This record gives sequence, C-alpha cells and structure tokens, in this order.
Amino acid sequence: MIKHKENIPKSIHIPAGTGFSGITLSLIGFFLMLWPSSCRTNDLPEFDGSTAFSYIEQQVAFGPRVPGSKAHIDTCEWITKQLKQHTPHVTLQHFRDAFAGEVADMTNIIASFYPEKTNRILLCAHWDCRPFADRDPNPDNHSVPVPGANDSASGVAVLLEIARILKENEPRYGVDIVFFDGEDGGSYSNTDTWILGSKYFAKTMPSSYQPRFAILLDMIGDKDLSLTRDYNSIDAAPKIWAKIEKYCKKINIPISTKTFGITDDHIPLIKRGIPAVDLIDFDYPSWHTVSDTPDKCSAESLGKIGRLVLNMIYGE
Ligand SMILES: [Zn+2]
Repeated sequence: MIKHKENIPKSIHIPAGTGFSGITLSLIGFFLMLWPSSCRTNDLPEFDGSTAFSYIEQQVAFGPRVPGSKAHIDTCEWITKQLKQHTPHVTLQHFRDAFAGEVADMTNIIASFYPEKTNRILLCAHWDCRPFADRDPNPDNHSVPVPGANDSASGVAVLLEIARILKENEPRYGVDIVFFDGEDGGSYSNTDTWILGSKYFAKTMPSSYQPRFAILLDMIGDKDLSLTRDYNSIDAAPKIWAKIEKYCKKINIPISTKTFGITDDHIPLIKRGIPAVDLIDFDYPSWHTVSDTPDKCSAESLGKIGRLVLNMIYGE
C-alpha cells in the first residue's frame, strides 16, 4: 500500500431483599467458575497470539510470496488447507494482471463462515509480498523480495486464528475472510499499479453482496504497535472507525495522532459502497526492506489486534 502526504468478569448485582443467603451467593460463584466462558454472553472467545505468531513464521519459511514463485504456490496451498479445517466454503478466485510490470497469475483466497446468514462482515488482508525491497538502506537489496513478516504475513496470521474461532463460536453475523493477492507490486508514482486482488474482487462481486462493514488488516504485527489514522477509512466508515477507537482504548492499542490518506485494499471496497476501514501501522521502519522479519513482530501485538477484531464481530 502507499500513503499520501502526510476480560472483565461480569459483575453480578443481587438486589437487597431477594432472600439469597451468603451460602447461596458463594454457590452461585462456584457454579459460575465451572460455567464455560464461551457460555457467558459478554465474554469474548480467547484469541491465541502465539498461534498467530507461528503462522507468521510458517509463511516466512515458505519464502517471499511473490506471484510466479514456488513460495507463492506453496503458501496458497497452505492457507487454503488451513481455512478448510474451519469451513467447507473456501474458493479460489484466479485472475491475471500486470504485477510489478510483468503479467502474472494471481489468486484471491475466499472463505465464508455461516453463508446462510444474510447479514455479513468482511475481513481481509493481502497475502502476497513485494518483489523488491526498494526502501532498504542497502541499494544491493533493492532487487531482492521482502520477507514480508509484517507486510502481509501478520494480517493473514490474525485472520487464520479468527477462522478457528469462528468455527468454534457461531457469531450473530456471517463472516467472509478474503486474502487478496497482487497488493504489493506497485510503483510509488502510480496508484493504479497496486491493490490488484481487491480491485478484481470488488469488480466481480455480485451487486447483492453488501456486508455491513469490512475490516482490512495490513502490517499489524509490529512489536511497537500503533495504528495509523487513515482519513479514507474515517470518511467512508465514521461509525465503524469510532467503534475501532473505542475498543482500541479498552485493549490499549495506541492510535497515532497524525492522519494520512492510505491507498490500500479497502479502497475498491469503499468504491463499491462497503464501509471499510484499514487497520494499519504505517510507523514501521522495516517497511519494504529485507529486515521485515518475524523478530520485528510480536505475539502480543497480534493478540491485541485479534481481540480488537473479535470485539467487532462478537461485541455489542
Ligand atoms: Zn507493502
């Protein structure tokens, strides 16, 4: 993507005079302890940041996921296999476009949960890697692909863990997870050369597909996590952004005071009328360098973003 300019336990109140004795209250407390947390409506399912971190390591181990490479094919198979453990509704959307100046075959990976529900939420991330580390301080690395630990693998990692949770905890709304291909091969001077997969997805989706909102995750694994305020998101989905800010406060995710306009995979969705927000930490020194490796990310940051997304799915 490119940027332009600049579990709290439920408290129980027993009204006075209801006749509950101290022993009854402690028995209630005892049974509450035994009651599985998933039954308590105000509690969120547990997000495992360490599992999500292991998904970053796995993707980086395949190698840079550049369209046309073996790592790209292997990772597509791996993501598909992971998703199929959690839903039978997984489809591959193949398309061909000019990626980094060369015609390439690419694939959006789409997983639907509870497809019978008409009210839906769309969650997305890109899974491809930039083919050249052109912001690396060493010019020799400018023709080398980025490892993409944060810039692609982190968003995929969080959403794969969300996929497991969706299977085990039926949400009120149906959820679609889309992993876009061809996001990161663009030229900084030409916005048309980026976000190819989301453009293809938005162009080909049926007009009847109208999720309540969409959340895009991009570069959210940084150890030093702080979300960027993107005015494209805030303008397109002010209510969703306000909710995001509310939950960020609760979870202790800082949001930068600076505002940018970011061209990312949420833009084609916004153009099709979907209120979409981009959760992105643009303050990442290893962006588009060969240093974008798993050690720059943390299970804690992934856990925080995972809980933020869970709040947006399962919260009030
Ligand atoms: Zn990138």
